Amino acid sequence: MTRRRLLVIGNGMAGARTVEEIIHRGGKEQFDITMIGDEPYGNYNRIMLSHVLAGEATIDDDDLLLNPMSWYRDNGVTLYAGDRATRLDRFAKYVRCESGRSVSYDTLIIATGSTSFFPNIDGLRASDGHLMKGVFGFRNIEDTNGMLQMAHSRDKTHAVVIGGGLLGLEAAYGLRTQGLTVDVVHSPSYLMNQQLDERGGNVLRREIEKLGIAVHTGARTTSVHRDAADDVTGVGFADGTDLPADMVVVTAGIRPNTEFARAGGVIVERGIVVDDHMRCEDESAIYAVGECVQHRGEVYGLVAPVWEQAVTLADHLTGANPDAAYHGSRITTKLKVAGIDVAAMGVKGPERDDDEFVQFYEPSTGVYKSVVVRDGKLIGAMLLGDVSKIGYLSQAFDDKVPLPEERISMLFDLGGPGETTGAMELADDAQVCNCNGVTKGAIVDCVHRGASSLSEVIAQTRAGKGCGSCKNLVGDIVACAAGGTLEPDPAADYYVPCIPLTKPQLIAEVRDRGLRSVSAVFADLAVDGKEDATAKMPLASLLRIIWGPDWADERGALFINDRVHANIQRDGTFSVVPQMKGGVTTPDQLRKIADVADKYNVPMVKVTGGQRIDLLGIKKEELPRVWEDLGMPSGFAYGKSMRTVKTCVGSDFCRYGLGDSTALGVELETRLQGLESPAKLKMAVAGCPRNCSEALCKDVGVVAVGSGWEIYLGGAAGAHIRKGDLFTTVETPDEVLLLCGRFVQYYRENAKWLERTYDFVPRVGLDTLKSVLLDDSEGIAAELDARLQLSVEGYRDPWLERAAPRSPAQFASALPLLPLPRVPVR
Ligand SMILES: Cc1cc2nc3c(=O)[nH]c(=O)nc-3n(C[C@H](O)[C@H](O)[C@H](O)COP(=O)(O)OP(=O)(O)OC[C@H]3O[C@@H](n4cnc5c(N)ncnc54)[C@H](O)[C@@H]3O)c2cc1C
Ligand code: SF4
Ligand code: SF4
Repeated sequence: MTRRRLLVIGNGMAGARTVEEIIHRGGKEQFDITMIGDEPYGNYNRIMLSHVLAGEATIDDDDLLLNPMSWYRDNGVTLYAGDRATRLDRFAKYVRCESGRSVSYDTLIIATGSTSFFPNIDGLRASDGHLMKGVFGFRNIEDTNGMLQMAHSRDKTHAVVIGGGLLGLEAAYGLRTQGLTVDVVHSPSYLMNQQLDERGGNVLRREIEKLGIAVHTGARTTSVHRDAADDVTGVGFADGTDLPADMVVVTAGIRPNTEFARAGGVIVERGIVVDDHMRCEDESAIYAVGECVQHRGEVYGLVAPVWEQAVTLADHLTGANPDAAYHGSRITTKLKVAGIDVAAMGVKGPERDDDEFVQFYEPSTGVYKSVVVRDGKLIGAMLLGDVSKIGYLSQAFDDKVPLPEERISMLFDLGGPGETTGAMELADDAQVCNCNGVTKGAIVDCVHRGASSLSEVIAQTRAGKGCGSCKNLVGDIVACAAGGTLEPDPAADYYVPCIPLTKPQLIAEVRDRGLRSVSAVFADLAVDGKEDATAKMPLASLLRIIWGPDWADERGALFINDRVHANIQRDGTFSVVPQMKGGVTTPDQLRKIADVADKYNVPMVKVTGGQRIDLLGIKKEELPRVWEDLGMPSGFAYGKSMRTVKTCVGSDFCRYGLGDSTALGVELETRLQGLESPAKLKMAVAGCPRNCSEALCKDVGVVAVGSGWEIYLGGAAGAHIRKGDLFTTVETPDEVLLLCGRFVQYYRENAKWLERTYDFVPRVGLDTLKSVLLDDSEGIAAELDARLQLSVEGYRDPWLERAAPRSPAQFASALPLLPLPRVPVR
């Protein structure tokens, strides 16, 4: 059979994916395939550029390149990379390129994607139309490299990002992570206005500002200021104000890239107009796919529709499914900014009187969620601050799972069917990974073809390699499909992804090699010695667990709270909680606290849930003086560390008291004070089972009973509620101190980063804990006790840094306080 000549213009995510799908359907027998792409590489995952800019991935990561050059060779596809198609002759059926090359076709696919939109702003473009020095879009590797080079070209770079949508915020986050001062300027009145309602936009703004990124809404940029050398010096706004800047990133939207098609006479409105087969209007041999198309009036700016279109087009062209037709896509948006969870789909709020609208708003935590249901179907959802239900909601939005009668359970887990049930119930064609267009069927198929671990499935299907929000669901599907035959995935147990060691192995290596700084750990143990920004904080924590005060403190690896030993608040001020062991204080301490509150005009003095006194609203530069005046040690109310031991009054005063809970609480806190741990640790001691200090819902709870003391582990009463498991009953306070300490050390050495005890205890299992820590089945009890003792002896009050700051900037006011509503003065 003579093969038809198939020519694809554009070697991006849509073009290459369509060719993959065609080959998958035996298309190599039918077509002689040629691709023309103006970027000089194989096809890469554009979505990952946000991670590259933030230093969380690099240009040469395997995950970035979807189809390396060898893929084209191996599949018999001729690729002209680095050449641009400039002219289309629809009648003679050939395409002319910038290089002068001509390529003839029988069937043509146009997959030219989108281009960044640059609004009309003075000083953005030169007279020949090119972007001027210091101005960037955010679309491809070249843009990303350009921004990174500029960011690193001098010490203090100030970037202004024009556009506070998804892409703009990801660009701002990336540049901020690279150490730049960043302002986001957005002309609508709130951020991400395409996907969020006003409240959502404002909640998001607060979270973005907490990253040290300044946000200016309702501001229309009219000019880029330049000096005599044409370097950027600032941007000017319609109201006559301006901002200083060294570089400008424009993320004011994208436009379908239709220039090539339009010039060739193909019908173009907002995009290249296609029918349900992706065939261009009035054409017999020309198709289009991806962001450059307009289908039933819609143009898309996300990747999920690209996958669906590619499948339809491949089915149609190869004849694999003569009924294949594309009917449009329903898209879910997710922001890729570490620590800020935002996802949205469909409408932003009710549009009709009979639309059901369920909303939950908790301003203090930045959690805002809503769903809109019409005629029993989910037509919109918004999740900020907690996106744990995103997997379920995306499926419901796609009509792949039924809605629960109790609508609120779409926003929270109220003991309804778990994720695993969801994974089993999903239809095979349900798209699980939107970023890489992977269906449940493809994942199940991969397991049935022999993939025996989660990481193998991820490597083969690419599911979970984009924004990462589907990873849990992918894990559940793989577990269901393997039906218990799944091999344990070693990577799942690595403490940080870039170092192939479990936490105990990593601890042993760090000890043996004497590695005391995060950079030394990367250099010695990370794959190819490559640094990974996301691993810095967990590694810093681990080094402090291992070496106590003798770790090499590289401040870049620490979160602001750990750098200044205080808890940052919404408005950029800090809260100061002095130590009050067991919640016991004295008139002298109270007088000092009152004096400090007066002297520094502290806006609020508050008794905390852990029975301490919190001075809220202290400026960063005042911290050392406040600590000096208090003359009390830190209460550790900010770190991933041992926090407080809450106590009840106990047998000295309480008529029900069976044990001296206050004394034991004070002793416990004295012993464990300030210990670094994988997540915060809260404890309590109660003088009798009436449990006035709520010991049953603490990480470690101790309760006096007639015969001695009961120890409970893994309790919680925060966002997650869990009654602690009874670990053991002992007779004396000394045994309590010994066993609580041993558990804490075991938790420190074995828990995952940020794993609270309420997850750790059930994961490891109470029986294992009893066997290892009480019966010493592994013979490590004495070592645990000894290592804990070393850490106890290494305790040092971090507030002593007031006398000798670690760096001149430690307590300098680096960022202007954010213009947020201040805590009211009471
Ligand atoms: C930084 C960033 C982050 C993103 N994050 C997400 C995300 O989290 N989730 C999501 O769903 N989507 C995201 N997207 C969008 C996603 O990348 C696009 O939806 C997807 O790339 C569209 O595929 P496409 O093939 O249509 O266009 P592209 O991937 O842009 O490919 C088009 C290709 O055609 C080439 N080309 C154009 N004209 C010609 C010509 N005349 N001759 C030869 N070659 C030509 C272009 O250079 C380009 O290589 C993101 C995009 C960016 C830039
Ligand atoms: S103090 Fe705790 S409960 Fe109160 S708002 Fe803050 S996080 Fe929420
Ligand atoms: S827990 Fe028991 S001992 Fe403690 S205050 Fe309550 S009743 Fe008294």
